[in-house]
Amino acid sequence: MTVMSNNINNYNLFWKEALVRIRSEISEQEYFTWFNRLEYESSKLNEIIFSVPSKFILDQIKQRYLIKIGDILNELTGSDIKISFVIKKQAAAPKTTQLPSAKEENSEHKNSHKPKTASHKNEKASNSYSFDTFVVGDNSSFAFNACMAIAKNPGTTYNPCLIYGGVGLGKTHLIQSINNYVNSNIQELDIKYVTAETFTNEFIKAVGDRKTQQFKNKYRKVDILLIDDIHFLQGKSSTQEELFHTFNDLYDSNKQMVFTCDRPASELKELTARLRSRFERGLNVDLQPPNFETRMAIMRKKCEKQSYEMSNDVLTFISKNINTNVRDLESSLTKLIAYSKLLNKKITLEIAQEQLKDSYSLNREKSIAIETIQRVVADYFNLSYFELRGKKRTRAIAFPRQISMYISRKMTDYSTTEIGYDFGGRDHTTVMHACQRIEGLLQSDSNMDNVIQKLTRSINEYRRNL
Ligand code: ADP
Ligand code: MG
Repeated sequence: MTVMSNNINNYNLFWKEALVRIRSEISEQEYFTWFNRLEYESSKLNEIIFSVPSKFILDQIKQRYLIKIGDILNELTGSDIKISFVIKKQAAAPKTTQLPSAKEENSEHKNSHKPKTASHKNEKASNSYSFDTFVVGDNSSFAFNACMAIAKNPGTTYNPCLIYGGVGLGKTHLIQSINNYVNSNIQELDIKYVTAETFTNEFIKAVGDRKTQQFKNKYRKVDILLIDDIHFLQGKSSTQEELFHTFNDLYDSNKQMVFTCDRPASELKELTARLRSRFERGLNVDLQPPNFETRMAIMRKKCEKQSYEMSNDVLTFISKNINTNVRDLESSLTKLIAYSKLLNKKITLEIAQEQLKDSYSLNREKSIAIETIQRVVADYFNLSYFELRGKKRTRAIAFPRQISMYISRKMTDYSTTEIGYDFGGRDHTTVMHACQRIEGLLQSDSNMDNVIQKLTRSINEYRRNL
């Protein structure tokens, strides 16, 4: 193909031709998202220069399309073309009219990718959830890093992403941090955060008002979709159906999606298999409860944020006694700080003990009885609760028994002596031996970890339903 001779050093026509090809190879959404923001700037000998509105767009285009653009231009011009970019802030407004049209222009797409106005951007500005205020521990570093990577580079590596974990462990904090980060740093992208509950209610209303098309447009035009608490969708079949199609649309256009859930997708009941399999695509990462050190670090950070100095022994006391989740930690701290400010008193260990008495005992109550653990584990291994507590030592019983002892040690505050007592009066060394054995297996056998996690979740669920 010889559109014009190379030595004129103007590759604009080649570029127009290249755009037609690119447009025929990728989805319309994708094309409008990225190629409306890339403009031909100028040419030099064997070099074509584009302008883009920001470094973010530049990085994205390079990552996603540089090779494709290079290959097509090399083929069209018959020479090795260097591709360069300049960042021009004003170039942000997409000029769709300049683009050659491969298919009929879709006016809906055109409108949907207008740069956002300042007022739109400020919608979530009051929300304080940010990566800066999230304290990272071993329990959360994987989830944190994944969310951070997604916020900086949406739609590339971790797509979709499902973050799961129990209540109050920071799922909403993380997913909203993505929202806030993108809103303040990547002006070009249209991001939408919604809870599964709001999504469901909006959908039901749209059906009632005969406005499903508007609903579809709203969610299928975004660049990034964040849905919090997808376990809420269980049993809601028409909303699931709608989300399934939204998912496919966005996925095919390489749009980023992030979901949170209180359990792994595999354990979502009353969810169609095809939607579940969508959630399981991409990255699934769990948030675990924080350990003692992380609980201390979280509280230090919260005190710092409120410019409140709390003594170390009070912090230690709270971290030791409130071990369920971060939300409970936070409310204990808020209570103490309010007390201190209202009465103008410094919080001593005695005051903390007195003030938190209720939440502490509540926490204890909430802590799981060994019996619950025994029942759930016995059920999982098809044994009876009495067999598990009994004297028999066949392998089929001894192994589940060791697992129950290990979980009892991890999930409750009971000592090995107390646990031994609850397992038919066994000695504490038996409990210690069981814990060591399971810990050893956890190191060498990845399936063991799955079993323990599954059991832990079932125990929590059993307790919630009591
Ligand atoms: P979830 O959505 O998992 O139920 P949230 O994200 O609502 O939990 O977290 C509960 C509270 O605990 C929020 O106020 C959140 O800011 C705080 N929180 C949770 N994890 C952390 C953390 N690692 N660092 C700081 N704050 C946290
Ligand atoms: Mg939440």
